[in-house]
Amino acid sequence: MTALREVAVVGAGAAGLHAVEALRRAGYDGRLTLIGAETEPPYDRPPLSKHLLGGQWQPDRLALRAPQALRELDLDLRLGVRAERLDRQGRAVRLADGHRVRCEAVILATGVRPRRLPGAEAPLAGAHVLRTLADALALRDELRPGVRLLVVGGGLLGAEAAATAVGLGAEVTWLVSTAAPLAAVLGTETAALLAGLHREHGVRIRQGVARAVTERHGRATGVRLADGSHVAADAVLMAIGSEPATEWLADSGVPLDDGVACDAYCAAGPGVWAAGDAASWPDPRTGRRRRLEQRTNATEQALHAARNLLAGPDSARQPYDPVPYLWTDQYGLRVQAYGSPGDADRFEVVDGSLTERRFAAACARDGLLRGAVGIACARALRDLRAQLAAHGPWPPGAQ
Ligand SMILES: Cc1cc2nc3c(=O)[nH]c(=O)nc-3n(C[C@H](O)[C@H](O)[C@H](O)COP(=O)(O)OP(=O)(O)OC[C@H]3O[C@@H](n4cnc5c(N)ncnc54)[C@H](O)[C@@H]3O)c2cc1C
Repeated sequence: MTALREVAVVGAGAAGLHAVEALRRAGYDGRLTLIGAETEPPYDRPPLSKHLLGGQWQPDRLALRAPQALRELDLDLRLGVRAERLDRQGRAVRLADGHRVRCEAVILATGVRPRRLPGAEAPLAGAHVLRTLADALALRDELRPGVRLLVVGGGLLGAEAAATAVGLGAEVTWLVSTAAPLAAVLGTETAALLAGLHREHGVRIRQGVARAVTERHGRATGVRLADGSHVAADAVLMAIGSEPATEWLADSGVPLDDGVACDAYCAAGPGVWAAGDAASWPDPRTGRRRRLEQRTNATEQALHAARNLLAGPDSARQPYDPVPYLWTDQYGLRVQAYGSPGDADRFEVVDGSLTERRFAAACARDGLLRGAVGIACARALRDLRAQLAAHGPWPPGAQ
């Protein structure tokens, strides 16, 4: 067990919370500071684009822990304050309120921040992003029957927001830059199924590249496209990806490469660890650096970073080799995906069928299982997950 007495975790989202819990669970009883820029105690983001935006949930259901459970962690909890600088030599984190938090080790879990379009880089009425509780409440306020919502961005966030908004009676246009939105994440077959669902429910899918949000009298009026055309809207959601929230580390000496550039053990230098959306690491499956924006990864990587932090000598550390997992809820269906279904060129349904909208499929390339995707076929998907974890060939038993 480590002799550390002062540990700080920066970022009080899912990864930050799981990191502090894992440290305490493993017996670390020194000072533990959790620093978060948002004023809310750790809350869950996936419901923001689903139950919260849809009005089925109120904000209090998002809390990841009850106040008593947080108190039992015996944290020095600093909420509503941003970390401004990491001083590795001085072993401290400097906060925006002027305080310095001493730490012999630090876990960086600051997540990502959404990209914005030109014309709406600064806050503009009617132009939205969706990352925080405040973002979701602001967007929810706009979603009345008949309101024209333009969702820009063909990823999961845009897809979920479009589905929720059309369910509230909004007239939704989903602007995507490729012919097959979501194919890169879920594979072409599942992406086509979801696109069909969107159309069935009245979402207008339009292909084009957004250049800028347009504005009149201080309010967004739509989006100008690269081909010069204009899509008018009462509200615009910019769901065009995000960037790791690591700018505060620029002069810290911490390696940055698509987020905090960790080694295989979630370490980014002596005493520095990272987890969650902000962390990249060399994926042993591909040898390439990888960063995941997935809720399960935030938990798993945080546990891993915390365990390795406490492990002490290098030999006791474990490399991080997860089977990535994500889910998305759209139109009452839950799509689940393991690994990287979008990297495959072979799609084989092993249970159910696409037409039933209940299936599990293996996604393979070059004789290797790369991913698994499905709807309402949990057991078959779990079997595929086990094969993914074992780096299994496809078809099974093939050399
Ligand atoms: C709307 C939405 C829906 C999603 N749906 C799904 C889903 O269905 N399935 C799925 O797998 N994933 C989903 N995700 C992704 C998932 O929520 C994230 O992967 C997860 O929240 C990442 O956790 P994190 O702790 O790494 O980052 P975050 O949750 O972003 O937490 C980071 C925290 O650090 C704070 N911070 C940033 N900079 C500083 C600083 N300098 N000082 C102090 N604090 C700082 C931030 O304010 C934030 O509170 C969704 C995300 C969103 C936004």
